[in-house]
Amino acid sequence: MNIALVGYGKMGKAIEEIAVQRGHTIVAKINRDTPLDTLLIQKIDVAIEFTRPDVVVNNLLFCLKHHLPVVVGTTAWYDDFNKVVEQVKQENGALLYASNFSIGVNIFFEINRKLAQLMNPYTDYKAAVEEIHHLQKLDAPSGTAVTIANTIIENNDQLSTWKLGEETHPTVTNNELGITSYRKPDVPGTHIVTYQSDIDTIEIKHEAHNRKGFALGAVMAAEYLFGKKGIFTMSDVLNSRD
Ligand code: NAD
Repeated sequence: MNIALVGYGKMGKAIEEIAVQRGHTIVAKINRDTPLDTLLIQKIDVAIEFTRPDVVVNNLLFCLKHHLPVVVGTTAWYDDFNKVVEQVKQENGALLYASNFSIGVNIFFEINRKLAQLMNPYTDYKAAVEEIHHLQKLDAPSGTAVTIANTIIENNDQLSTWKLGEETHPTVTNNELGITSYRKPDVPGTHIVTYQSDIDTIEIKHEAHNRKGFALGAVMAAEYLFGKKGIFTMSDVLNSRD
């Protein structure tokens, strides 16, 4: 496939390495100073967007308007989700989004869902989420932590919302799920879910060792999206491999 990288930072570079290993060609690398219009002179099968929360929506609307199928990994844009969905429908386009492209994290999401269902009757246990990322990360909590928290809330009759603490655990009421975000040098990303009671603690943890997992997942997502129309997530990609 011919792939355009919209955003050629840490993730764009990691994706390039995996895409080339899997036999694809990178035909465009777009950065802060490269006009998006340069995409239009290339033959592009799929665009992969990893940029910044403040520019991602415009980039997605541009790709959809020009009928470029797009895989998006940038996080913290979901307030504009409906606007992007409308554009996909209007242009009969193709979009695949995920707050986390790592296969391990997507398996962790499934374990988190199952654990939340199992824990729901046991109200003595207090759930909490922690995430640790590198210092340059612009959003807190991470998109992955928000996905984890929303799944716990959907499956827990006590909880109705989450509350963020940065570097310290937030003080929460009975209907709030605490998320704590830590920022440390040079860490690709860790997510921990705990259920604590007076008697014991249950903990599940995912720790990325490097960015390869996100990059591989994003390239697999691009391979999945090629030739399709509609809106997809990483669970569609994983279920297609059953
Ligand atoms: P980075 O800062 O290393 O790279 C961002 C790149 O975007 C830079 O090269 C910058 O020049 C470019 N850019 C800025 N404005 C642009 C514009 N208007 N058009 C095109 N490019 C532009 O960041 P990163 O670590 O590569 O992460 C990028 C995003 O991906 C972040 O939102 C991060 O949270 C997210 N992320 C998601 C996953 C996932 O699995 N979904 C994994 C890792 C990171």
